[in-house]
Order: sequence, then structure tokens, then C-alpha cells
Amino acid sequence: MQLATKLIHAGVEPDPATGAIMTPIYQTSTYVQEAPGKHKGYEYARTQNPTRKVLEQAVAAVENGTHGIAFSSGMAAIEAMMHTLQPGDKVIASNDLYGGSYRLFTRIFAKYGIEFQFVDLQDAGRLEQFADERTRLIWIETPTNPLIRIVDIQACAEIAHARGALLCVDNTFASPWLQNPLDWGADVVVHSATKYLGGHSDVVLGVVVVKDVSLAEQLYFIQNSAGAVPGPHDCWLVLRGMKTLHVRMQRHCENARQIASFLRQHPKVQQVHWCGFSDHPNHAIARKQMRDFGAMMSFVLKDDRIETAHRILSSTRLFALAESLGGVESLIGHPASMTHASIPREERLKSGLSDSLIRLSVGIEDVQDLIADLEQALEKA
Ligand SMILES: *Cc1c(COP(=O)(O)O)cnc(C)c1O
Repeated sequence: MQLATKLIHAGVEPDPATGAIMTPIYQTSTYVQEAPGKHKGYEYARTQNPTRKVLEQAVAAVENGTHGIAFSSGMAAIEAMMHTLQPGDKVIASNDLYGGSYRLFTRIFAKYGIEFQFVDLQDAGRLEQFADERTRLIWIETPTNPLIRIVDIQACAEIAHARGALLCVDNTFASPWLQNPLDWGADVVVHSATKYLGGHSDVVLGVVVVKDVSLAEQLYFIQNSAGAVPGPHDCWLVLRGMKTLHVRMQRHCENARQIASFLRQHPKVQQVHWCGFSDHPNHAIARKQMRDFGAMMSFVLKDDRIETAHRILSSTRLFALAESLGGVESLIGHPASMTHASIPREERLKSGLSDSLIRLSVGIEDVQDLIADLEQALEKA
């Protein structure tokens, strides 16, 4: 079955009770048993819920995994993966990680004796230098936020496996439509379904997908034991969103292509970070592992000052000033004063996050309207 068909049908059956074509929202906390221990596979809703189960099967199918495990947020999904580790284990993560993951690793899990190293993995070969016999997990994001760098999933998987470690890819930025990390050798995929999978900026949810039964069993055990499960209504919203992922992604990518070219030739713009440009430093890897180049991009102004960026951010009318990404509406953000504000300026500049760097999550509105909006805002720069 092709991906577009899977997005609509995988894991979904007509409701056995009524034939309803749409998965019902099983808004219940418990299930009545016929006799003690005699039931239809459902006992208590933290442990099992039919709406959640359909979502888990659907996400597993579109990521070419065997098991999906859903959580109440992307962070809860990432936390569950961390709970599979033991004190003394080492994790190597790519260095420009989602801020929430960095915080979870360094402020919560480091104190339980798990060691984290953050390495620039644009050259995956660098893993060889850092991975040792204590390394259990390699954690990458690709494309990265906000500089849209690309990490070679297949190369990381080969090195991880040679060292006896697992490779986990946070696939939130790409979505399963653009990239399926398990096909390139990754062992685990995590999603903040809050972003492209849900796609309508109306739900917070996370999913882990694996292709190994014993890892899946561990994660279901953690899901039930720690209990960060999503509600059935939220599961249903993501299921509904997923049915149009391919159509949305195609428009996201088309719009992004035009906006990236518009920005690149604009006299006030110094540089545009978007992995679809043939001179992007990791373009060849993007071509290899992605089906298209996505709708996340960032750009730097020639007048590289925070105040100048702020004038643009307060002048757009369609691009909404907000954190998050992946929804139908276009968003604009300023890492230096929003997502990356807690990083000291010197360090921020060293990692390439200039004062005027502006990030866009290109939505699926009419592209001419989006370009006109950026054009009038750039006049204020
Ligand atoms: C948003 C995001 C998360 C966290 O997901 P939540 O659903 O907000 O908890 C993790 N990774 C990436 C790349 C994200 O963009």
C-alpha cells in the first residue's frame, strides 16, 4: 500500500459495533467485564483505549514500523524512550536539538546518572570518535531547528549498530510524508504529533514508533506504568489530521519552494536556510533520504540586528508570531528572543544563530498572499 493510501486507511476498520467509518471516540475510563477477568481485551483506559489503539497502528504503519505507542505530548514520548535507559548509559545527541529535549536530557535525566553528549553530526563520521561501549542510544533530529541542517540517518544507524547502540530519530520536522527513518536503519522514530501529523494547531500529542517487539513491550509497559497517555479525543484529532497529511505536505512544500526563492533574491536578506537549495551544505543527504524538502526555513537579514528582526515580526499580518510549527497556518518566529533566548549571546552566535535570524513555518495559504505579506514586512526592515 502506498503512503497516501496508508494515511487514510492503515490501522482503521469500520467500528465493529455500528459500522461507523470514522473511528469513534471511546470516551470511557473503564470497561465492563462479563465475569472477573473475562473481557474483550479492554480493562482500564490508561492501559488500553480503542481510539488510541487505532492511532498507534496508523502512525506505526505510515512510519513502516510494527508498533506505535502514543503519549500525551511529544515530550512525554521522548521521556518514555529515556525510561528505557539505565544509570551509567550514555546518549549521544545531535547538538542543535529541540530545546525541550535538551532540557529534559540535561535537567531531568542527567541527574539519574544518564550521560549526554551533544555533537555536531552534519558529518555522521564524528560519531565514531564519541561512541563507546557505554553508548546505548544515538538521538538525532533532521532537519534541525532552526538552521535546517540535515543529518545522514543511514550513516548514523550503521555506526550506532556497530557500537551496539540504537538510533532514535525525532521525525517531527520532516513528518512521515517526507522521510521514514526506519527505512534508513533507525530503530526508533518519535513524533510530536502536535505539529505536522495533527496539522491543525489544535492538539498536543506524541508517538513513538519501533520495529522490535521487545522494545515495543518495554514502551507499552512504560506507557501504562508512568501513565502519560493521551485522551481519546486528542487521539481522534490526530487520526483525522493524518488523513490529509500528504495533501497538506505537498502544498506546504510547494509554498516553501516559492517563498525560499523569493527571500533568497530579496535585497534585504543575507542568507536563507532551506535544504532544497542545491548549494545547501547538506543538500545531497536531503535528496537521498527525503522525498521533498519541507516547509521549515530560516533567514538572516543584511542588517543583522535584533531590533530589525523585531520590526519584521511585528509587521506580518498572515504569518502569526508564535512558537510551534506544522499547522495549516503560516507562523513566524525569532529564535534569539523566543525558543533560544536562554542561550548566552556569544554561544548562540557561535552555533550560527545570528541576532536577526527569523524562522518560518510555511503554511498552506495562497502563496501569493504569503509572499505579499513578507514583502510588505521586509519593507520595514
Ligand atoms: C514540538 C517538538 C517536540 C515536543 O513536542 P510537544 O508535543 O510540544 O511536547 C519535540 N521535538 C520537536 C522537534 C518538536 O518540534
